[in-house]
Amino acid sequence: MKIRDTLHDGKVHISFEIFPPKTDAGYNSVVSAAEKIAALKPSFISVTYGAGGGTSKNTVNIASHIKDNFGVESLAHLTCVSSTKEDVHKVIEQIKEKGIENILALRGDIPKDKDFPLPNHYKYACELIEDIKSLGDFCIGAACYPEGHVESETKKEDIIHLKNKVDCGVDFLTTQMFFDNTILYNFLYRIREQGITVPVLPGIMPITNAKQIKRSCELSGTVLPERFRAIVDRFGDNPAAMQQAGIAYATDQIIDLLANDVNNIHVYSMNKPEVAAAIMNNLSEILKA
Ligand code: FAD
Repeated sequence: MKIRDTLHDGKVHISFEIFPPKTDAGYNSVVSAAEKIAALKPSFISVTYGAGGGTSKNTVNIASHIKDNFGVESLAHLTCVSSTKEDVHKVIEQIKEKGIENILALRGDIPKDKDFPLPNHYKYACELIEDIKSLGDFCIGAACYPEGHVESETKKEDIIHLKNKVDCGVDFLTTQMFFDNTILYNFLYRIREQGITVPVLPGIMPITNAKQIKRSCELSGTVLPERFRAIVDRFGDNPAAMQQAGIAYATDQIIDLLANDVNNIHVYSMNKPEVAAAIMNNLSEILKA
């Protein structure tokens, strides 16, 4: 099933994300986490992609396993910037052979140790999107950045590039994490004004590890609101308390989004079925409403 066919029905759709193991040794534990998350009956589970090595192979295998064995639709991420076009085309063929119908098409971060772009390499996600479209009948998602992508000088410039990317054949967008919903509402207003009409799935990150989040927010330029900072300062050294507070904060964000008619929400559950389950439990009556 193509994810795009579910996004316009006015119902609430919650999806989760997992990441593949760095080595084959961790494969079974990730599949087991995916099974527990699938039991929560999300609308789909996305599987992230790491450039090269075992991770890329595992993305396709895990996405296929989720779809075939757990009765939940899967979304395979695919990045392009670190690979030749031939290698990326091979992965797209594998995705097709496994019957996976949904791809999140990403550029990936520019490799620091190589000249960029190398001949016959991709420069932007839009080029990958064009190739995916030419190689099969896929539902294609792409990334967007409510606070602007770090490489863009201005949000305006980033939205112009986003419009170009969507026009290449994107069916839906998933956002980078954010911790202040007003940033998302402002972004939605701006992109709609620019004629970007595809569904946007806000990416909600329940924080369970304070140190990790501070680092990744610095790298991605994500703003940490005062209310959130206070929680991290107060509970950051106590993993169990931080996890509980992080789940409560994420739940609060989701409820506000739902109250504002944002019905398709993606949760960065990060291989933690207990976090995904706690969020679903917190929303149990709300999801019936
Ligand atoms: P692009 O859309 O290509 O944009 C990259 C930059 O180039 C932006 O600043 C944009 O404004 C600019 N740009 C785009 N087109 C043009 C143009 N034509 N001319 C000039 N400038 C242009 N990374 C992984 O490695 N694996 C994953 O699984 C993964 N999953 C992700 C999921 C989500 C929802 C998000 C938000 C990010 C994810 N990432 C992942 C990170 C992503 O790969 C990086 O953020 C990367 O730096 C940008 O990828 P992109 O597809 O958004 O790139």
